[in-house]
Amino acid sequence: MSDYALDLVVPCYNEEDVLPQTVPVMLTHLRSLAADPELNLNRFRILLVNDGSVDGTWPVIEALARENPEVVGVRLSRNFGHQNALLAGLHEVTADVCVSMDCDLQDDIGVIKSMLLVYQRGTDLALGVRNDRSSDSSGKRRTANAYYRLLSLMGVRIIENHADFRMMSRRALAALLEHSEVNLFLRGLIPTLGFSVTLIPYKRMSRTLGETKYTLRKMIRLAIDGVTSFSIAPLRAVAILGTCVFALSTGAGLYFLMERLLNPQSVTPGWASTVLPLLFLGGVQILSIGVLGEYIGKIYMEVKRRPRFIIQERTKDG
Ligand code: UDP
Ligand code: MG
Repeated sequence: MSDYALDLVVPCYNEEDVLPQTVPVMLTHLRSLAADPELNLNRFRILLVNDGSVDGTWPVIEALARENPEVVGVRLSRNFGHQNALLAGLHEVTADVCVSMDCDLQDDIGVIKSMLLVYQRGTDLALGVRNDRSSDSSGKRRTANAYYRLLSLMGVRIIENHADFRMMSRRALAALLEHSEVNLFLRGLIPTLGFSVTLIPYKRMSRTLGETKYTLRKMIRLAIDGVTSFSIAPLRAVAILGTCVFALSTGAGLYFLMERLLNPQSVTPGWASTVLPLLFLGGVQILSIGVLGEYIGKIYMEVKRRPRFIIQERTKDG
């Protein structure tokens, strides 16, 4: 295999305390990979994407880029969210192969070598898969499992325990970048690309520096995007529910009508039988409208075709 270049894409949001510690580790590691005789890696860059941080992340990135020719900073004009920041970084890739990872080094940087070996064998995608989630709280583990079950129920193919730590060849990346959807859920798109894929198990550390930028709200948002960007099962479920309720109420209506005709002196049902179905139906309707709204909202966002990220500046050109 001939020599190739690597771009490491790293989204950063409010990581001023983290970057000065992790970027030197990345640099040292990548330099050792470039010197590794097993690998044909001859050049690399670290693309740090500042996702509209409100702390001193950008000056930190500028300083790192000044001191290290391999570091390139890309500054987004505001916070676009992790997925879009990652996408912005992927658009900047010029190398033959790219690896995306978080800036906190929770993902095992040692795995990059295995990913490059996989690339050298001609495989287009290598996905880091966590082999144990012991660094997560039991609550997070349980919700993750429930979520994977829900996704598979909806017919969404997803690789379990794979986040956004992955290697992509230039052609796999080009295929990914063809997707122009605004509601981006990268890890759901990857299995739809095809190509040869290798899963690489690794152990994910807990975050030792800084704190998680994924608030509960962002996580729920990503989870809903994951379902609704890949499946219309919730719409079908609501339609089926509506049909069942309609059939049941028609049956019950007929039953009570017959009862009234055949047995005129029967007692009229009490308030529970009036109020409960009303509440139940009200609930079903609001839920259904909510689900419809979620999809209409998605269509609305898609048709507007707004840019998914806006680059304000770069530390170096090209
Ligand atoms: N991140 C980002 N934009 C955001 C939130 C997070 O670019 O709006 C970055 C963050 O700086 C980190 C990566 O995305 O490099 C993953 O975030 P984090 O480590 O907080 O998530 P966790 O590992 O807890 O899931
Ligand atoms: Mg993290």
